[in-house]
Amino acid sequence: MARETVSVGVVGVGYLGQHHARVYSELPHVLLAGIFDSDLRRAEEIGARLKVPVFSSLEELTDRVDALSVVTPTSTHAEVALRILARKKVALFLEKPIADSLASARKVLDAVRQAGVLLQVGHIERFNPGVVAMLESGVRPAYIEAQRLSPFGLRATDVPVIVDLMIHDIDIILALVKSPITTMRVVGTPAVTSHIDLANAWIEFKNGCLASVTASRVSLEKVRKIRLFDRRGLYYSLNYETRELGVATVKFEPSSLPEISRSKKTFANEEPLKKELGTFIDSLRNGLPPKVSGEEACQALEVALEVNRLAHESLERFHDTEEDDPLS
Ligand code: NAD
Repeated sequence: MARETVSVGVVGVGYLGQHHARVYSELPHVLLAGIFDSDLRRAEEIGARLKVPVFSSLEELTDRVDALSVVTPTSTHAEVALRILARKKVALFLEKPIADSLASARKVLDAVRQAGVLLQVGHIERFNPGVVAMLESGVRPAYIEAQRLSPFGLRATDVPVIVDLMIHDIDIILALVKSPITTMRVVGTPAVTSHIDLANAWIEFKNGCLASVTASRVSLEKVRKIRLFDRRGLYYSLNYETRELGVATVKFEPSSLPEISRSKKTFANEEPLKKELGTFIDSLRNGLPPKVSGEEACQALEVALEVNRLAHESLERFHDTEEDDPLS
């Protein structure tokens, strides 16, 4: 039988964590027991706004809850998650990416397995209704093109753009293609931070699918798009942000011209975070597996880190060839 109410807390109430706290305060079957942030003034501001208790240590908050959302900077996810699990066996919602290194991510997975608790990772695009429609359509992609471009902001500069932004598309592409990666070709460069700020990756899969993925955090405009075609002539084009999904199908009838039918659907603007955290609570109350598991998050991180490594290699190639370049 489902648990009636679960007691939840939020660790880190910055740009995104404040929304985790607000959403939990609105969800049925949830008691938002409190928040913790290493910046006490920030925690008090959000606590006052949502009328929710502010705790002065992670351990005190952990003792009071059945589940915690960890919405701290990526480089702190593993350390915070391990501290929580060393204190008490609580369910964890870890924001994406699961960690900033594969070794840290695996430590988190080991600790979660040992504690036997639920872990869901915040790959929020899985809850985008356009993505859900593509995943449920049984599409078998032959080619995918994804673009995720943002103007520069000061957030998430502790990790490369690949680990912050491109990882959303990597996760969706892995879920769509369901085949091992065989080859990757990458180009990337820093622009304003010491990490890679712009990158393009060509990813080839064992089943023959090709994907081209571009991410930038120094763009003039914000773009969130994915397009794909499959082996049967089905074409999808999704604007993640406006949730507009275009579908084109081609019908071949013997002895007549191919018939192309096009449709466009804009999905309702339901808050994806509400869906995502609602699913987490549902899994916890009913003992169900997570919608986005730690293993899937680890796979997306592994690919993202390899793309980042290859982006650095591409930089070295540029340095090596500068002497031969008449423009340099
Ligand atoms: P932020 O810097 O705005 O907020 C982080 C907060 O955590 C700050 O208030 C900071 O004081 C606090 N903090 C730092 N270290 C802490 C610690 N050890 N214990 C407790 N609190 C601590 O960052 P953000 O933009 O909200 O991003 C947070 C996380 O959410 C990142 O991992 C980011 O990748 C992820 N994120 C995901 C999405 C998405 O689309 N799913 C969008 C934005 C951010």
